[in-house]
Amino acid sequence: MTDTHTPSPVVADAPTAPVQTCRSCAAPLSHTLVDLGLSPLCETFIDAADAERGEVFYPLRAMVCDGCWLVQVGDYVAPDVIFDDTYPYFASYSDSWLAHARRYVDAMVDRLQLDESSRVVEVGSNDGYMLQYMVQRGIPSLGVDPTANTAAAAKEKGVDTLVDFFGLDVAKRLVAEGWSADLVAGKNVMAQVPDLNDFVAGLAELVSPTGTVTIEFPHLVTMIEELEFDTIYHEHFSYFSLVAVQDVYARHGLVVTDVEELSTHGGSLRVYAQRSDGNPDVAPSVDALLARERELGVDTLAFYEDFAGDVARIRHELVGFLQDARAQGKHVVGYGAPGKGNTLLNHAAIRSDLLEYLVDRNPVKHGRLTPGTRIPIFPPDRLAETKPDVILIMPWNLREEIAAQLAYTREWGAELMVAIPQLTTL
Ligand SMILES: [Zn+2]
Repeated sequence: MTDTHTPSPVVADAPTAPVQTCRSCAAPLSHTLVDLGLSPLCETFIDAADAERGEVFYPLRAMVCDGCWLVQVGDYVAPDVIFDDTYPYFASYSDSWLAHARRYVDAMVDRLQLDESSRVVEVGSNDGYMLQYMVQRGIPSLGVDPTANTAAAAKEKGVDTLVDFFGLDVAKRLVAEGWSADLVAGKNVMAQVPDLNDFVAGLAELVSPTGTVTIEFPHLVTMIEELEFDTIYHEHFSYFSLVAVQDVYARHGLVVTDVEELSTHGGSLRVYAQRSDGNPDVAPSVDALLARERELGVDTLAFYEDFAGDVARIRHELVGFLQDARAQGKHVVGYGAPGKGNTLLNHAAIRSDLLEYLVDRNPVKHGRLTPGTRIPIFPPDRLAETKPDVILIMPWNLREEIAAQLAYTREWGAELMVAIPQLTTL
């Protein structure tokens, strides 16, 4: 008999096959951290004109590699589908992120003695939010970013930007053009790279023998301990511990030389590295953090075991609260429409019957609907016009900044809340 199997009509073609091996060390992947079901791309906001059209949902499942301990999402969506010209994330809309970028520039200029003879390259430079401060100090700087609309915004700030995906080929080209760099910076970009080994090989190629690489990313330990499951989405391929970073860096001749813990994005690491052929000194902070991670059990499966159950608890808690609020006739809305808000909304199947609307400062999102859940997005003025009873702050990492901005909503008695790591009134 011939094979009679035909694909189910509901299955959309995946542009690439799901990853079955680790994107860092290539070991087979068999351990699920959490299965979040099906979700659309979390930054694909829907135009009102498309409200009657369908959209594609992809599996969203995080796996943990027991070879190198990289946590990762399967390769379900091709990167050029994700980072096209409509990618709406502009870093400059967050005041606290801009302040963070400015402090970073001050610290690096000081630490690395950067001046007009230096070369600084930022990979994932977005709208030039960080490099603008390097340029203002007269330090030759170049951004690399695959998204044309954010690169155009960077050019308006005087930040020259190469529109491309960073990797070994781009690094070789830049070195040939005189951009062998004293500082290669990357903030929240390494997690969004599908081909991790090519990206790290590019960092090692681009940095000069005496230069420094700094990469910032949300710390996996914080994600697990604080139950930040909404930072899991298709655009966010990798979730790093220092143990996992050291492993991929070593493969490409980079030595971790220092590490700082930052409060950004709920708890991030800034990892410094240099080429091994430059005989770098290693600060005590590196062994100290590696020892702490191992003590917590980052390199054991036990560390990851309770996460999925805790995520289910958060989902039930939030949905129960929203249903009760609705039964009591309360109006509940959300502040902020970040990508990660959409992981939470889709996973918990929260639509506009439970959360009437979202507001966001980014005008690109106004008049659009959230992917999957189709909740309308308005400018923040909408809050004062409708005076909701409860405002759920979606970007919990900015809860203090946003609660301060929303102080005026206390006048009509609005309650400000976050859902993660547990439902809390601020
Ligand atoms: Zn691995």
